[in-house]
Amino acid sequence: MARVFNFSAGPAVLPEDVLQQARDEMLDWHGSGTSVMEMSHRGKEFISIAEQAEADLRELMGIPANYKVLFLQGGASAQFAMVPMNLLRGKTSADYINTGEWSKKAIGEAKKFGKVNLAGSSESSKFTSVPMQNELKLDPNAAYVHYTPNETIGGVEFPYLPATGNVPLIADMSSSILSRPIDVSKFGMIYAGAQKNIGPSGLTVVIVRDDLLGQTVAGTPSMFDYKIHADNGSMYNTPPTYGWYIAGLVFAALKRKGGLKAMAEVNDRKAKKLYNYIDASGGFYKNPVAVNCRSCMNVPFTLKSDALDEPFLKGAKAANLVQLKGHRSVGGMRASIYNAMPEAGIDALITYMQDFAKRNG
Ligand SMILES: *Cc1c(COP(=O)(O)O)cnc(C)c1O
Repeated sequence: MARVFNFSAGPAVLPEDVLQQARDEMLDWHGSGTSVMEMSHRGKEFISIAEQAEADLRELMGIPANYKVLFLQGGASAQFAMVPMNLLRGKTSADYINTGEWSKKAIGEAKKFGKVNLAGSSESSKFTSVPMQNELKLDPNAAYVHYTPNETIGGVEFPYLPATGNVPLIADMSSSILSRPIDVSKFGMIYAGAQKNIGPSGLTVVIVRDDLLGQTVAGTPSMFDYKIHADNGSMYNTPPTYGWYIAGLVFAALKRKGGLKAMAEVNDRKAKKLYNYIDASGGFYKNPVAVNCRSCMNVPFTLKSDALDEPFLKGAKAANLVQLKGHRSVGGMRASIYNAMPEAGIDALITYMQDFAKRNG
């Protein structure tokens, strides 16, 4: 069986040892005689899986005790609405930093519930950078500040953690969670769709400071209320059990590999190699992002001519390098190199890019 190197932005590559373990446990989880997919979410087997996953995530990220960890559905896109519904807390406006396609979507949903103050934007530079701290126009009376630490489509990552004083900082960390250590206590809330760096699609992880809960806007449905999910251990209704289980296997694998500090070292090395090659390609390949804002997880690049895109993708596929086509809104190529992309995948991609440039230069 040949596995390819999968550069998809999401759903994305998963660690091979995790997939193997899931296969081995598929029909009979730990002598239970059932697959995890067939278990009651309220039975002791699944409760043990769920609790272990949360404990491992808390350990990996150093999540303080006064934060709730929720395992929800609806993707990051549902959070775009749940954040204002839950966190406006009677205030009239929230600050948003606009750094690309995902920020824009979050802003669009927030506007349905309150006033959005654009605290910073990199739209004038076509989202090839992020506003620096001294450029932010933060409102001390805002309910919260929302930003996107890593813009998956543009390949733009914040090189700093915005300081927001007493105003809670909210992060859509869908494509960068678990890629390096962060100080969770600096955030009011972190959320992430699972399908980039955690596990399968269908699961959304929310990490939220408990004092922010319980002040939803009038009419908030129960399923959109963090407090209801927190009070019920994310089992107010049937949670995405299989995704939760796979996420738990990924967390355990990250612990075995040395945790987030070890991941950051590998991720930095992988990204540096690829950017260094792009910059040294004599203009054959180009990445448009300001050097200090380049994403460690998503590397967009263009070729010398658009006419080379199709032959590049075709040759890549033949070399077992797949899902390199850029997002439809930006074109060109994008290599997503999440935690589970082995370093050998980067080496294989660079070798192919060198060869392609030589043949078409
Ligand atoms: C993928 C992605 C989303 C959308 O996630 P869904 O789970 O499809 O809703 C939102 N924000 C960021 C930063 C993403 O990378």
